[in-house]
Amino acid sequence: MPSQTSLKKVILRESVKPADFLKLLSARRKKELLSQASYLQGKRVVHINATAAGGGVAEILKSLIPYLRSLGIESDWYAINPNIDGNFFTITNKIHNALQGAAVKISGREWAEYERINKRIAADLDTIDCDVLAINDPQPLFAGCYSHLNKRKVYFSHIDTSAVSKSIWKKLHPCIASYDKIVFSSSDFVHGDLSRRKVKIFVPSIDPLAAKQTIVSKKEARSYLQKHGGIPTDCPLIVQVSRFDVWKNPLGVIQAFRIVQSSCPEVRLALVGFNEAKDNPAAVAVYKDIAAVAAKSREIFLFFNSMGKNPLEFTMMAQNAADIVVQNSTKEGFGLVVTEAMWKRQPVIGGPASGIRRQIQNGRNGFVVKTPEELAQKIVLLLSNPKRRKLLGEAARKTVFEKFLFPRLVLDHLKLYRSCLRYQ
Ligand code: UDP
Repeated sequence: MPSQTSLKKVILRESVKPADFLKLLSARRKKELLSQASYLQGKRVVHINATAAGGGVAEILKSLIPYLRSLGIESDWYAINPNIDGNFFTITNKIHNALQGAAVKISGREWAEYERINKRIAADLDTIDCDVLAINDPQPLFAGCYSHLNKRKVYFSHIDTSAVSKSIWKKLHPCIASYDKIVFSSSDFVHGDLSRRKVKIFVPSIDPLAAKQTIVSKKEARSYLQKHGGIPTDCPLIVQVSRFDVWKNPLGVIQAFRIVQSSCPEVRLALVGFNEAKDNPAAVAVYKDIAAVAAKSREIFLFFNSMGKNPLEFTMMAQNAADIVVQNSTKEGFGLVVTEAMWKRQPVIGGPASGIRRQIQNGRNGFVVKTPEELAQKIVLLLSNPKRRKLLGEAARKTVFEKFLFPRLVLDHLKLYRSCLRYQ
């Protein structure tokens, strides 16, 4: 690769032993997984995405690559160089928003820049040896098409494309349709003009062996947040963990919180959204707006710049420390933060996003709400009812155990790679 590379290999120190995750599968699935893995020995899979940290895709790849390696499948992960030219990530942020249905205009000049950088990425891809090339999300989408690698190519779309703007779809469709396989996180996000034979649905999952999923006592987590975040331990705590992004609707959380305060003045709110994702330059502006709204409230704690904190540990502790976890998103491809909190036996109140509705069955293992008023009402209800919180948290944990754990996702990946390679 040339010295100014557009891609950077992500170095992973994490390793995993197959025995540790195989025990999470039924005997039938374990046999199936080992059999699929045996066909892929000596094959090489490479994943490409926008950023090595921050966001759900990075979270998945951080676990997926070590799992694949542990099964004897060579695999690597490259993220787009965070110092890539000029406004590339501002443009891809617009494309992301348009895919999620926002009315944004992308100029001819911006498309030209997107295509220019993707040609550079493609040139770097051509120097990477692999059998299956997996492109995640729209940032490197065109690079997969421009690449001359005569390999199987898979496009993973992790976002909610159910209401995609027509003009964006028209622009991206020919490239997406040219991939050998196209993976979405829900059938609601698939468009009829894609070949059914190519489309797969993978439901995202969390890695129960990852440090992020550690479960600690509430007492330990609260004293950690007091020490590292200044949040007092003697008051109820509401937490939302997510990038500062309009789709996550942090403003709606603050509006609900203000309503809750009128009946429960001692309550505290923490919005945890460390600025790690290099592909989300809009986060700074969203954070500034939210900081201005929250400025007068000493009861609201915002976490954006890590400033000596360990974002992973802090996030895990915040998810353990909360009395109620909120995820007020209006759009969500899935929303791993919801799964993570449910796994930690938290009662979660989610916004109406499709990915959240996939995980929370209203009233059974959490709540789904549409407005700040409804959110406030459910928070007040749960704050006054610890027994209900516990019941919802237990049901949430069971849901994740049954449906959203990583070994199943690994099996989906193995089957996909194999089906790609079978007809070479
Ligand atoms: N995350 C984190 N700290 C933060 C914000 C987010 O560790 O301050 C992680 C979070 O734990 C989850 C991922 O980033 O693993 C977010 O994934 P999700 O699917 O919820 O949303 P995305 O950011 O991909 O839209």
